Amino acid sequence: MPRLPALLALLLLLLGAPLAAQTARILDLVLAAEGDAVIARLALSGPPEGGMRALALRDPDRLAIDIAGAAAVRREAAGAGGVRAARAGQFDPQTVRLVFDLARPMEIVAAHQPEPHTLEVRLRPVSAAAFAALARRGRVALAPGPGAAAPPPMPPSDRELAEVEALLAAEDRQRAEAAARQPRRAKPLVVIDAGHGGRDVGAISVHGRYEKDFTLAVARAAQRAIERRGGIEVRLTRADDRFLTLGERVRIAREAGADLFLSIHADSAPNALARGASVYTLSEVASDREAARLARRENRADMIAGADFSGQDSEVVPILLDLGKRDSMNASAGFAQLLQTHLAARGVGFRSEFHRFAGFQVLRNLGVPAVLLESGYLSNEEDSRLLFERRTQEAFAEGIADAVRAWLGR
Ligand SMILES: [Zn+2]
Repeated sequence: MPRLPALLALLLLLLGAPLAAQTARILDLVLAAEGDAVIARLALSGPPEGGMRALALRDPDRLAIDIAGAAAVRREAAGAGGVRAARAGQFDPQTVRLVFDLARPMEIVAAHQPEPHTLEVRLRPVSAAAFAALARRGRVALAPGPGAAAPPPMPPSDRELAEVEALLAAEDRQRAEAAARQPRRAKPLVVIDAGHGGRDVGAISVHGRYEKDFTLAVARAAQRAIERRGGIEVRLTRADDRFLTLGERVRIAREAGADLFLSIHADSAPNALARGASVYTLSEVASDREAARLARRENRADMIAGADFSGQDSEVVPILLDLGKRDSMNASAGFAQLLQTHLAARGVGFRSEFHRFAGFQVLRNLGVPAVLLESGYLSNEEDSRLLFERRTQEAFAEGIADAVRAWLGR
């Protein structure tokens, strides 16, 4: 099987889980000491649908909170005060478990949501005897609310507790086994997106040629080059001259279960001297004004066809750049570097700032590493000529294939 990086394996697991669209994702976990109390803050993609239950566990002493209707890939936080460390992870398909490793006996005094995207949990020291009593009590419902104290205990259930202990003990083993499990496909999948198409011609070169034709030629050549190397499955969002909305491109990649997404473009700029390739990754904040201008232009593709679909992902506010996506943004930066290295090795010229960030619609909502390659400038005489030469297109295809193979291969 291909040895995916651990992150990708986790993402695959998460993407494979039957998550409802509204499932709250745990985005971040931070601990802070406040006197002898400890405050744990969780950033959420939205309010969890289900309730929360807390329990105390012995040997070693831990406090745990089960958050129903939530999802998380494993997230760890450095300790603070009486808490040695904390972590959040998927406990079962519907539940995230938050675990606090205790340096001293503590109890959960309150859990509340100051706003829908934040959950605050307050822990304070208790006596060893009080902690032992908590552990005997089993799980208790934890009602979030402004300053809400822990409600009265539910009847203890030794069986339930024993099951939970067994599950906790098996947690790491299960994770290791899951990571080693055969992925859904025999081969990893890269989706290559030829930018523009059909009525949307993209940028027009100084020689009157269309960006959409360049992107398709490179996408098809890259597919051949990757398939020649073997071991990696390739799918194109379009294999002919047709119009696709940005949303459709994303959907194709998601439904295919892509492990990597690469969108191919060629830029155009008011400055006729501007030339060279750039690799872009998604960011809510553009790295510079020109990157922002480019994102606006590429995002406009949906409007060119007469219908404005560009608002369909507008609910993607920064907080919804959820865990999977944030981790995938880091991975995207890694692939961007790899792509630049392999393309440069094939003689592709890059701008000095080769890796830039902007809010590209086509890179949104993917949850897997995704980059947008601007191959050069159709507004530049030299670039415009080179980009439509077969030799140059093959160089792009081979460089892309090398990078994809290095990222996904074995
Ligand atoms: Zn384009």
